[in-house]
Amino acid sequence: MGQRFSSSRNERHQDLASTFNEYFKKFKVENKIIPQEILASIELNLSKGNIQVANSSITNALKEIDSTPLNVAVTGESGAGKSSFINVLRGIGHEDKDAAKIGVVETTMERHPYTHPNIPNVVFWDLPGIGTTNFPPKDYLEKMKFNEYDFFIILSATRFKKNDIDLAKAIRMMKKDFYFVRTKVDSDLKNEKKFKPRTFDREKVLEQIRSSCVRTFQENNIEKPPIFLISNKILSDYDFQILVDKVVNTLPVYKRHNFMLSLPSITDAAIERKRQFLEQSIWLKAFATGLLNMIPSLTLLMVNDVGDLKYSMNLYRAVFGVDDASLQGLAEDWQVSVDQLKAKMKSPHVFETTKEETIQERLSRLYEEFRLAKGDVFAKNVYVKELFYLKYYFLDIVTDDANALLREICVKNNLVSDLAEIL
Ligand code: GDP
Ligand code: MG
Repeated sequence: MGQRFSSSRNERHQDLASTFNEYFKKFKVENKIIPQEILASIELNLSKGNIQVANSSITNALKEIDSTPLNVAVTGESGAGKSSFINVLRGIGHEDKDAAKIGVVETTMERHPYTHPNIPNVVFWDLPGIGTTNFPPKDYLEKMKFNEYDFFIILSATRFKKNDIDLAKAIRMMKKDFYFVRTKVDSDLKNEKKFKPRTFDREKVLEQIRSSCVRTFQENNIEKPPIFLISNKILSDYDFQILVDKVVNTLPVYKRHNFMLSLPSITDAAIERKRQFLEQSIWLKAFATGLLNMIPSLTLLMVNDVGDLKYSMNLYRAVFGVDDASLQGLAEDWQVSVDQLKAKMKSPHVFETTKEETIQERLSRLYEEFRLAKGDVFAKNVYVKELFYLKYYFLDIVTDDANALLREICVKNNLVSDLAEIL
C-alpha cells in the first residue's frame, strides 16, 4: 500500500516536471523570462518531489523580475533628438505634462531622469551632450555616474563626430554596452526627394546615410559598430524595432521583462513578444500557487480577487497601448469619439457595470467561456485558481484589441503618407 502510494506520488512529480519543461519549450531562448539554468533546477526539484523548493524558486524569480531596475542613458549633442527619443520610448506625446521638453537649447550640465509611466522600474536619463559640457570622455562619464546605467544610447542627427566615438571608446573601457542611433532619417529622405524628385531612391539614400556614419569610424580606426537609423516621428519605419529587439536580446534575462513591457507596440511582432513575456509570468504564478494547493475548491474566484483582476486588466491595457488615455489621444488625432474606438474592442468593457449582471457574474461567465474554448492552459495535475485563467484570458483579449488597433493605425498612416505625397 505504502509503495503504491509512493509510486503514484513519484508519477505526479515526473508529470509536474515534464509539464514545466514542455511549457518552456514553446519559447525561444531570447523570449524566456527566467534564465535556463534556473528553469533546469526547478524542473529537477519538481521531479525529485521538492515541491516547496520549486515553489519558492519560482516565487523568487518572479520577485527578481518585478524588482529589477533598468536605467538607460541617452546622450548626444543638443538637437540630436534625445528628448524626442525619450518621449517616444515612454509613449508620451511631446506636449504632455510629463514630457521631456523638445527643441530647447541645452544649458544644464545635469542629467535628468524620466520614469516610464507604466513601468516605473524603467528610467531613461537625458544626459547633456558631451560637447556641451566640455569634459573629456572619462570625466564626463564619471560626472554622469556611468555605473548606474545598464547601457548607453548615443544619438546623432548627422554623421557621428570624434566626440561620440571617443565617448564610445570610454564606455567600452568601463565595460558597458552602447548603441549608435542616427535620428531624423525621415527628414533626410524628405529633403532628398524634394531636391532630386526624378532620381530619388529610398533605399539608396538610407544606404548613403549608413555609409557616411561608418566612414567616421574608419577614419578613427575603430571597428564599426552597428548603426540604427530611426525617426522619432515615424517609429514603425526604419530600424527602431531592430534596435529595441537587439537591446532586449543583449540584456541580462531578468532585465528583459520590464524593458520589453515598457516599449511601444508598433509591430505585430512587438505585441506578440510582449504577450509571451506576460503569459510566462501569469503561467508561473499560477503553476507555483497551484503546486501547493491540494484542495480543488480553493480554486474559486474570491471577492478580493476582483481588485487583482482589475489591476491586471489596467496594466495589460496600458502596456499594449489600449488604455483609456491612449485611446483618448488617438481619438483626438483622428477626430473620432473615444466611444467609437472602444466599440471595436473588448477589453474596455470587461469591468463596465450593467443592470444584467454583476461583475462577479460576468467574471464567472468569462471563466466558463474560456475553459470551454481553451481547456486546461496550465497543468492537468495542479489545481489552478480561476483568477489565473481570467488573467490569461484578459491577456488574450487585450492583445487582440492591440492588434486590431495596430491595423487601424497602419491604414491611417498610409493614408497620411499618400496624402503627403500628393500635396
Ligand atoms: P535634444 O536637444 O537632443 O533633446 O533634441 P530634441 O528632442 O529637443 O529635438 C530637437 C529638434 O529636432 C526638435 O525640433 C525635434 O522636433 C526635432 N526632431 C527630433 N527627432 C526628430 C526626428 O527623428 N525627425 C525629425 N524630422 N525631427 C526630429
Ligand atoms: Mg533635450
